[in-house]
Amino acid sequence: MKPLVVFGGTFDPVHVGHLRVALEASEFLDADVRLMPARTPPHRPAPVASAEHRVAMLKRAIEGQKNLSVDARELLRGGPSYTLDTLIELRAELPAQRSIALLLGDDAFAGLPTWHRWRDLFGLAHFVVLTRPNHGSTVSGELDAEIAARRTQDADDIRRSPSGKVLNLAVTPLEVSASAIRAILAAGRDPRWLVPDALVADAAMLAPYRTSTR
Ligand code: ATP
Repeated sequence: MKPLVVFGGTFDPVHVGHLRVALEASEFLDADVRLMPARTPPHRPAPVASAEHRVAMLKRAIEGQKNLSVDARELLRGGPSYTLDTLIELRAELPAQRSIALLLGDDAFAGLPTWHRWRDLFGLAHFVVLTRPNHGSTVSGELDAEIAARRTQDADDIRRSPSGKVLNLAVTPLEVSASAIRAILAAGRDPRWLVPDALVADAAMLAPYRTSTR
C-alpha cells in the first residue's frame, strides 16, 4: 500500500514550485500525493481566487499526472479547518496500517507547537518537512524534544509505519511564490513557465489575478 501524502496550501494560484514538491515527494516515498487547498488560513489575508476556482486550477494543473490528486474536503467543510480534524477523517476512511504523511515547509513545521492539539498529530500521520535554501526556521526546544526520537531519513520508515516519524526532504530549489505570480499578473506581465502551461493556455484560469492588485 502506497503512503498517502497530504500537501496543504492556499494554491492561489498553484505554481511549478508546488508541483515539483508534490512530484518529488511522490517519487521519494513512492506515494500518492493529495493537494489539499485550505479555505481559511489562520494568519493570512483571504485568497484572491474563490475556493472553487483554486480547485479548478489545481485539477487542470495535474491533469494526467499519475499519483497526484486534489482533495477539496477542507473547502467543503466550511469554516476554519484543523489539521487534526482532517487527519481524523482520513484515518476513518483508510486502512489503519496505511501510512499518512503531512508534507509542509520547514517554516510551517517550526510553528507546529501553535497548532490545535499538535502532539496528537504524531499519532495520526508522519511529517515530511521540505527543506529549502534560505527558508530554514529554527525549531523550538519544545518541538525538538518531541521530534528528536522521531527523526528519520529513511523513506522505508515512512512507508512501513502508519504515523509518528519526521523526515526532512530536500527538494529542487525553485524560488517561485504565489504572491510573486499574483504581482506579475496584476502588472499585466506574462507568468509563463512559473505556472503550469495548462493554466496559461486557458485565459479563464488566471483571470482572477489579472484584475486584482493583491
Ligand atoms: P504565497 O506567496 O501567497 O505565500 P506560496 O507560493 O508560498 O504562497 P502556498 O499555497 O502558501 O504557496 O504554499 C503551500 C505550500 O507549498 C507551503 O508548505 C509552502 O512552503 C510550499 N511552497 C510554496 N512555494 C514553494 C516553492 N517554490 N518550493 C517549494 N515549496 C513551496
